[in-house]
Amino acid sequence: KLFNELQDLKGNIRVFCRVRPFIPGQSGNKTIVDSIGDNGQLVISNPSKPGKEGNKTFKFNKVFGPTATQVVDGFNVCIFAYGQTGSGKTYTMTGPNNATEEEWGVNYRALNNLFKISQNRRTTIVYEVGVQMIEIYNDQVRDLLAAKGSEKKYPSIKQKQNIYSCDMVIIVFLNLHTMGVTNISQPNGLAVPDASMHPVLSTTDVIDLIDIGFKNRTVSATAMNERSSRSHSIITVHVRGKDLKSANCLYGNLHLVDLAGSERVDRSEVTGDRLKEAQHINKSLSALGDVIFSLAQKGAHVPYRNSKLTQVLQSSLGGQAKTLMFVQLNPDAVSYTESLSTLKFAERVS
Ligand code: ADP
Ligand code: MG
Repeated sequence: KLFNELQDLKGNIRVFCRVRPFIPGQSGNKTIVDSIGDNGQLVISNPSKPGKEGNKTFKFNKVFGPTATQVVDGFNVCIFAYGQTGSGKTYTMTGPNNATEEEWGVNYRALNNLFKISQNRRTTIVYEVGVQMIEIYNDQVRDLLAAKGSEKKYPSIKQKQNIYSCDMVIIVFLNLHTMGVTNISQPNGLAVPDASMHPVLSTTDVIDLIDIGFKNRTVSATAMNERSSRSHSIITVHVRGKDLKSANCLYGNLHLVDLAGSERVDRSEVTGDRLKEAQHINKSLSALGDVIFSLAQKGAHVPYRNSKLTQVLQSSLGGQAKTLMFVQLNPDAVSYTESLSTLKFAERVS
């Protein structure tokens, strides 16, 4: 089934749009969503232009409406959520606090899938799985899982070595399945080899690490104006599969990305640190947009170098890797302008 789905996948990039429901107790009674079609069509209405005149239509691989549950195939190498603060990025990637199994986000589903597959093949191939978790804040990489007092809290981005060579996990498995073992890792790529690597044996192990990482992210939040919305967090799951017969190794990785809020900050209203944050976020998100746009156009030159974000994700954007983007929308009429700019970002790359 998985194989068929991948065969069906036309490009390497899929764009899903997700509209979150209204949240009880929060303002909002007027929605900008006019209609959601089964074919991936989303029509939004302009609250200040009543009637159909102000309607705009967007097309995605799929649109999940407010009542959609957390069900998603979780096997793409780079999965990220884009949208303004409060649009449901973290909900989609991680799920709500103390999530039940049904409420698990993309992260857990992808990991469960991965462990299931690697368990199935245990007799012929031995897998090792390790996790890193970093945040990028003001274009600086920080290790969210560094041991206390560790020197490598601010690791740099380097040309990758073999243990971090990256590609799509599922392609690796597909290859095993259909063609035997081939090393398909890309020769050129960047990684963060000095960020701490934590061996894991199960989804629960990873969830525990993610909890620690999130806490480290929030510690700074009190000091710095909701830092979790102002930084990108990236969980990287590295997989190494060793074929017991041939001793060949395969490498794969999976990036799970919760991006900083995409909202534009009014330049006239902010100064100092806040302005600097905003400029870094705008710059890195547009660099990401440029990379994806260029991949979607099959451009010869892909401008990975323009931000730390695109450098870290390089190995899983493009090449044989698959990218899945969730475009997150807050349906509230008061967020119309932000939602429109989110949709325009997505329109450019889908
Ligand atoms: P972001 O990470 O983009 O800032 P959050 O994921 O924190 O946004 O979502 C904002 C609020 O909306 C949270 O209270 C979250 O639980 C809720 N929420 C988001 N998406 C959904 C959804 N699909 N169903 C129910 N609640 C949601
Ligand atoms: Mg969030």
